[in-house]
Amino acid sequence: MKTIIEKIRRGAESFTGQEEEALRRAGSIIRQGGLVAFPTETVYGLGGDALNGDSARRIYEAKGRPSDNPLIVHISRFEDIGAIVSCIPEEAVRLADAFWPGPLTMILRKSDRVPCETTGGLDTVAVRLPAHPAARRLIEYSGGYIAAPSANLSGRPSPTEAKYVMEDMDGRIDMILDGGEVGIGLESTIVDLTVSPPQILRPGYVTRERMAQVLGKVDTDVTIMDGNSGQAPRAPGMKYRHYAPRGRLTIVEGRPEQVAAYMNRRTEEDRANGEKTGIIGTRESLRQYRADVVKCLGERADEEAIARNLYSALRQMDQEQVTRIYSESFPANGFGQAIMNRLLKAAGHEVVKL
Ligand code: AMP
Ligand code: MG
Repeated sequence: MKTIIEKIRRGAESFTGQEEEALRRAGSIIRQGGLVAFPTETVYGLGGDALNGDSARRIYEAKGRPSDNPLIVHISRFEDIGAIVSCIPEEAVRLADAFWPGPLTMILRKSDRVPCETTGGLDTVAVRLPAHPAARRLIEYSGGYIAAPSANLSGRPSPTEAKYVMEDMDGRIDMILDGGEVGIGLESTIVDLTVSPPQILRPGYVTRERMAQVLGKVDTDVTIMDGNSGQAPRAPGMKYRHYAPRGRLTIVEGRPEQVAAYMNRRTEEDRANGEKTGIIGTRESLRQYRADVVKCLGERADEEAIARNLYSALRQMDQEQVTRIYSESFPANGFGQAIMNRLLKAAGHEVVKL
């Protein structure tokens, strides 16, 4: 299959004739059962018709994703939610008022219109109303309901730029809409509204604290930060090795001088053993690091930059064929919880505490 690539200007709120045409064409591909990767404010999504079970099957196939791992249904207007859920709890309305359009996914009871392929056999459906203008226009042109997981091969870091979608999906899907680099860089927060109190199944840009201001009590699935809880994560996708580079990654926690000394000692040993070494760090410590490849996520205090650059840094380590990677650790409060959740999963929870 030849994958068509069309460009949409990054940050565009309205579209040129050419962009509008590309979005319309992308929409018609999806209506006909095809697959289109598109930018959202979180990461690139791999979209198909959410109400067509065959489209969902194609998504699993293109990603190499286990079919028990459900997809997120993207809508462009709140009122469209009625057709895909069996009831709209009060909490959903309040969260939508506060955070939609935006990087929040709600788990609700599904209606019969949603095929079981889309929900991985579950009787619940994940719904999100993204803020990205091109994503929303594409949803409209596609008939209103796009099922989309992240546009990476299963297990790899989610793509934050179209070139990373190309790496994984070229020849496997019909079209890629290239909207430049995404804004947030980590997947949406997932909150389950079928349980009481609501429970966060995956942390993201919309934090527990902000949702608690709207809803009162909000819990967090214990498996999010704890690799040894002995429990299965409630979002099926969180149980798989995920967000991971090909090289082995270890997170190193401690005072900056200790961390740098430890990493430098380890990379020297690793190199002697024939490994190609990499360090992922922040601006303040960068000069201290000695490794074959050093990637900077931004300043330590700039969580948004760290989130936006994390997956790209992991992918660049792969591109440079780094086999042994060390990363700084980050405070896991607020949005930092999402950063550490992804980093911990990428590292298979391998953490050295100094
Ligand atoms: P991705 O967009 O690639 O991050 O994948 C979607 C994520 O949403 C996966 O982690 C899924 O397990 C999760 N998800 C989708 N639908 C549901 C659902 N009905 N219940 C729980 N988690 C879900
Ligand atoms: Mg994903």
